[in-house]
This record gives sequence, C-alpha cells and structure tokens, in this order.
Amino acid sequence: MNSPKPVDGGDELNLYESRKTVHNQRIDGPFRRFKWFVMLVTLGIYYVTPWLRWDRGPYAPDQAVLIDLANRRFYMFGIEIWPHEFYFVAGLLIMAGIGLFLVTSAVGRAWCGYACPQTVWTDLFQHVDRFVDGDRNARIRLDKAPWGPAKVARRGFKWSIYLVISLITGGAWILYFADAPTLFRDFFTLQADPVAYATVGILTATTFVFGGFMREQVCVYMCPWPRIQTAMLDEKSLIVTYKDWRGEKRGSVKKAAKNPDEFGDCIDCNQCVAVCPTGIDIREGQQIGCITCALCIDACDRVMKEVGRPRGLIDYATLEACDAEAEGAPPQPAWKALLRPRTIAYTLIWASIGGAMLFALGVRSHTDLSVSPDRNPPFMLLSDGSVRNAYTLKLRNMESRPRDMEIALSGLPGAMMWTDTIGPDNAARTQIVAVPADATKTVRAYVKASSGTAAQDFSFILTSQDEQRESDEAPTRFTAGEEGQ
Ligand code: SF4
Ligand code: SF4
Repeated sequence: MNSPKPVDGGDELNLYESRKTVHNQRIDGPFRRFKWFVMLVTLGIYYVTPWLRWDRGPYAPDQAVLIDLANRRFYMFGIEIWPHEFYFVAGLLIMAGIGLFLVTSAVGRAWCGYACPQTVWTDLFQHVDRFVDGDRNARIRLDKAPWGPAKVARRGFKWSIYLVISLITGGAWILYFADAPTLFRDFFTLQADPVAYATVGILTATTFVFGGFMREQVCVYMCPWPRIQTAMLDEKSLIVTYKDWRGEKRGSVKKAAKNPDEFGDCIDCNQCVAVCPTGIDIREGQQIGCITCALCIDACDRVMKEVGRPRGLIDYATLEACDAEAEGAPPQPAWKALLRPRTIAYTLIWASIGGAMLFALGVRSHTDLSVSPDRNPPFMLLSDGSVRNAYTLKLRNMESRPRDMEIALSGLPGAMMWTDTIGPDNAARTQIVAVPADATKTVRAYVKASSGTAAQDFSFILTSQDEQRESDEAPTRFTAGEEGQ
C-alpha cells in the first residue's frame, strides 16, 4: 500500500508528502488501444446523447434522454419513468452497484482504469499535455525551466484547452435536464435559468481542477471507491501484478549477460513507471494508486520483446495463479479467473434484477390511480339521512395522448358518486373524465350511500376508454357512523 510516509525531520514528524507531478510517457499496445476505445465511447455517449431525438408524438418532449425535473419525468428513448415508478431508477442504481461488484471481483479495478470519469478526463488532459508540451522528457524539462514568455504562452495555451474541454463538459451536463437545442441557444443569448449558469460554472471548475491538476490525487486521497474495492478483492481476483519471482534480481541486459544466474528478467528500465498515469512503481506491490489500467503491461511487454524474453513479466493475473506459477505451474489464461462462484453469483443477481425490471417495464400499465379520503371531516350526514364521503383522486394518463378515463365504484352497494365538475344531479356508479396526455389529473370525488350504510372497504377502478382498456384499482374505505366520531 503506497501512502505518504512520515518523514522524520528532526524534532518534527512531517506527515505530508508533497505531490510529484506525473509526466507519463506515450505508449502503444493492446491495453492502450482498448483505453482509447473506451474513452471514445464514454465521451461520445456523454457529449452526444442530449442531442439525440426520439419521437414521442405532439404531447411529449422529443429528446431521447431527458431528466425533466419541472414535470418530474425521466425519459430514456422509449421508456418514460414517472415519480411513482422511482423503483425503476432504484433498480438501475442497484444494477450499477452490483455491476461494479461483478467487475471488481472479476477484473479488479477495471472501472477505475478505464471507465471512471476521473480516469477518462485525466487521460484526455494528459493527451493535451502531450499534444502541447511534447512527451515525458520534454514536459519534465519544461516543468523545470524558469518562467519566461515562451513558458507562459505554452501554459496559457494548454490551460485554455483545459478550460474549453471543461466548459464543454459542464455544458453537456445541463443539456440532459432540458431540451438541448433550446437550452443551448438560451445559454449563449443569456436567457437561460441562473441555475444553468451556476451548474456549468461548478462543473467547469471541478473538471478543470480535478482533471487538469489534481488528477491521480483524486483517486488516491479523495475517492472512497478504491478503499471499498480493495476490501472486495481476493487472491482469485484478476489484478495487474509484477511477477517478482521472475523479475528479481533486477539488472541491465549487460549485467545479466555477464551473470545470467544472478539476475531475473527485469532489466530495470523503468518504462513501467514512466508510462503509469498515476506515477507508481508496480514492482513495489499492490498499491491504492494502481488503477489497473494495464499500461505498464504494454510497456513491459514491449521491453521484453526487445530483449527477447517472454512477455508477461507484468501481467493481469490472480495472486493465486502467480503463486502457482512461481512454483513452476504454467501461466493460467486470464479468462479462467472470470469463471468462479463469486462472479457467477454476481452475474446471476445482476441479470435477475435486469430481467425483472424488463418484465415490469413490459407489463406495466400506463394508467394509474391513487386515492386519498378526506379526514376532516371523515363523512357528512346529508339532510335526507344519507352519508357522503369525499376523496381526492389522482388519475395518471402515462400515454402521450389525451384519453377518456372511466372512474367506477367497486363494492359499496347502492352508492353513487359525482365529482367537482359533474354535479350531484348526475350522480352514478361510473363517471367519465378526460385526462390530458402525459399528465396527472386531480379530481375531487364525492360518494353518497344511503342512510344506515355501515363503514366498509370499497375500491375506485380507473379504466381507459380506448382499445387498450387499461385499468387500475385503488382500495379505500367508506366511513360512517361511529367509525368517524
Ligand atoms: S518495464 Fe519491465 S523490465 Fe522495465 S523496469 Fe518495468 S518491470 Fe522491469
Ligand atoms: S501500475 Fe500499471 S496498471 Fe497500475 S496504474 Fe500504473 S500503469 Fe496502470
């Protein structure tokens, strides 16, 4: 575990270790190319998604993914989640959590190494560094150089690129919360809501600081996830590891040529450290700073190829497989570590929740009714001796077109009802109410039962008056006599 080491400074014990700027070197290889791929996909999804359109008809927004806070809706392509269906969002969050457990138990901190936003943006900013200032050595030289016009201009240019990326990043976020083309225009004509400017300001600042300057410090000191993941790893989890039994004792090719029995395969070229985006030396063992990006594998494999030794001195492997290999067993293919009871159990749980959510989405009704009876007073005695209860009904039409809905009484024999718009003269056991598209209509309903009717349970049933005939039932209670005293 790599943590700041106490430095004994005489009388004082200094617990603070200053940061050493990481100038990671360019590298190419299968893992670097995979990292490029993940970066392009994740950034592409983030920046492009708000601009995708999805036709939902004239009564609903046409933005494919939209978190409509004002109307309390979440749209995702053909799916529309209402506030009372928050369990779908909770299900998605649970799936995301179990998905992370699954990935961690199977391939260690792959989330950190490839897909975490902090990693992706840090990687992007490190490419900007390389583009503006050159590769590792040039950047180290520039860092050490005194400030002068050339350095100021270079830094100014680089930080401007950081700022533009940060601004686009913060700007893209707010587009998920309103119609993107409209908000984009309003934003630049200074007509957007102040909250939009504040949100963009905060996200621009955090992206600029976290991705541009703090970088690996966010992973090492701020993020709780590495600590949680460390507890989830075991000796059967795939991790990036240096095979010290094969690499030690380190020595240059020349030294090894002179004393082949004394030296291992590591030629101490430091390439694995030079390419590491968090600046750690994997040869020192497992460390919280290792995000499992595997760039050191690419670097070391290239070195091994150049010196004619087998690849995999640094490799994805389980600690168990490493021990076996050190004892003389052949290297275990990495995929074998994926199939074990723990990963299979996580996969089954994850897939079951996903399947249950898909099923619930498939069979869910687009008609919903909720009822709340008046409590004060719970009932009224009318002049003819009959008893009247009042209820507030919420009729939800979750289709993107207006629909007529029938409200019917189920149970409570002989009772009649009317609403705030349909007077008592038209009291009946069923009433028809028009509900606008994609909306909740609140209706005051009055139910009258004849004198002597006892308190009892009954239901309101809501049925859409279209070919679908969707319905929902809301049980409630009719209060009368002593029950309401
Ligand atoms: S890249 Fe490989 S050979 Fe070079 S120092 Fe690292 S482990 Fe040793
Ligand atoms: S040690 Fe290797 S796997 Fe870990 S962060 Fe550095 S380059 Fe990535």
